[in-house]
Amino acid sequence: MTLQRTFIMVKPDGVKRGLIGEIIKRFDQKGFTLLNAELMTVDRSKAEYHYMEHQNKPFFGELVDFITSAPVFAMVWEGENIIEVSRLMIGKTSPLEALPGTIRGDFAFTKEENVIHGSDSLLSAEREIENFFGLLKKRISKDDFPFEDRKSV
Ligand code: GDP
Ligand code: MG
Repeated sequence: MTLQRTFIMVKPDGVKRGLIGEIIKRFDQKGFTLLNAELMTVDRSKAEYHYMEHQNKPFFGELVDFITSAPVFAMVWEGENIIEVSRLMIGKTSPLEALPGTIRGDFAFTKEENVIHGSDSLLSAEREIENFFGLLKKRISKDDFPFEDRKSV
């Protein structure tokens, strides 16, 4: 069992385009569990903390402007291997690489405004959930780390 929690956010473009319901539907139908959700505007410090790994990129300012420009729909979802599976459901960042059938493949057409965010690792998920919703109750355990540790089990 590798039950995980992840942070999923419908970005301002996705909210404006009426995609909240479609995105909830896909995660629900996959069998994942919605633990928390809120429509909210994001202030600059929350956005900068959320995207801290991109702080030295030339597009960082534009990215923070975009995320703070209009409401987002922030969610916490739980499920088996959800961090990796949700990234597959979301699709690649660039519209040239996001496959049909993925959320970005079906709905996004630019890499700057690409409808949805999903955490890319356990550490990011914990940090992002805390940033938007407060402290996680569940701590990361050995079982959450794939491959290496489980070889010996
Ligand atoms: P993700 O993990 O698939 O969301 O992609 P990244 O971590 O590489 O980038 C984070 C987010 O920054 C993306 O989802 C886009 O919204 C945005 N982004 C990525 N590349 C660019 C860019 O070249 N310009 C701008 N303005 N935004 C970008
Ligand atoms: Mg990323």
